[in-house]
Amino acid sequence: MVSYKELGLVNTREMFAKAIDGGYAIPAFNFNNMEQLQAIIKASAETKSPVILQVSKGARNYANQTLLRYMAQGAVEYAKELGWEHPQICLHLDHGDTFEVCKSCVDFGFSSVMIDGSSLPYEENIELTKKVVEYAHQFDVTVEAELGVLAGVEDDVQAEESHYTKPEEVIDFATRTGCDSLAISIGTSHGAYKFKPEQCTRDPKTGKLVPPPLAFDVLDAVMEKLPGFPIVLHGSSSVPQEYVDIINTYGGNLPDAVGIPEEQLRKAAKSAVCKINIDSDSRLAFTAAVRKVFAEKPGEFDPRKYCGPARDEMTKLYKHKIIEVLGSDGKAE
Ligand SMILES: [Zn+2]
Repeated sequence: MVSYKELGLVNTREMFAKAIDGGYAIPAFNFNNMEQLQAIIKASAETKSPVILQVSKGARNYANQTLLRYMAQGAVEYAKELGWEHPQICLHLDHGDTFEVCKSCVDFGFSSVMIDGSSLPYEENIELTKKVVEYAHQFDVTVEAELGVLAGVEDDVQAEESHYTKPEEVIDFATRTGCDSLAISIGTSHGAYKFKPEQCTRDPKTGKLVPPPLAFDVLDAVMEKLPGFPIVLHGSSSVPQEYVDIINTYGGNLPDAVGIPEEQLRKAAKSAVCKINIDSDSRLAFTAAVRKVFAEKPGEFDPRKYCGPARDEMTKLYKHKIIEVLGSDGKAE
């Protein structure tokens, strides 16, 4: 048993309370390799933004849970080296699907876990979430739960159809489970293909796809039922067109990739939405930078010469999200 407190990590309780009061959101960035983690920490340290490092099942399979946890521990020290006196870094399990996996993360030094029972029948979701909350709270680890189903594909999380969260269920769910935050479905979606072309309209000038707006009426209804309760948005990458263009220019093939427009996320961040998950955008930044080096310098074979530029591009992206979209800069001196 390792307590996250010994590792210098924090849970989400205070982060979320301040974010709701302050009208901003905490970035939750997924990581599964060193360059990505360096970029997240550099961007957070330089902007003094609290940050949530997310580990998905896919990341655990790819990089090994033990290694990822030590990397997060190292990240706290790295942040201090970068001049961030009091780093506020949370290590969070993304989409835990069983009690056992959540327990193993709690025991192993994670400061926050998500139990995703959203694919289960309502009562079973409550039962599973409650069990995780009862365990995690003994160690002051915070728990995110999910109600409603997001569409899209990301790692092992996959759903064909989305179902918006039913606002009439949230009070009962939050009260009976005791969860600390709630991921809801209001039209965000996992992956870089968040919408099918037929769900979108086309901008007559550019010919680019314009996605349907998020269901802010559902968010408003949830906030009315649970005033001041921390809300989480998954699948909130914006799929920047410039990265898609670079990828496609240099031999990639991402036709009609489309994400959530940043002005909608900006609006959400000002509400009770206090955690916004971004993963695909950093994958796109990484891939765009690597493809560019490969195309321009075919003789290059030192991974540092293409992972380095990829890291710089991700750092730029994370800082942009923190400052221009979430508004969390300067909130963790
Ligand atoms: Zn998710």
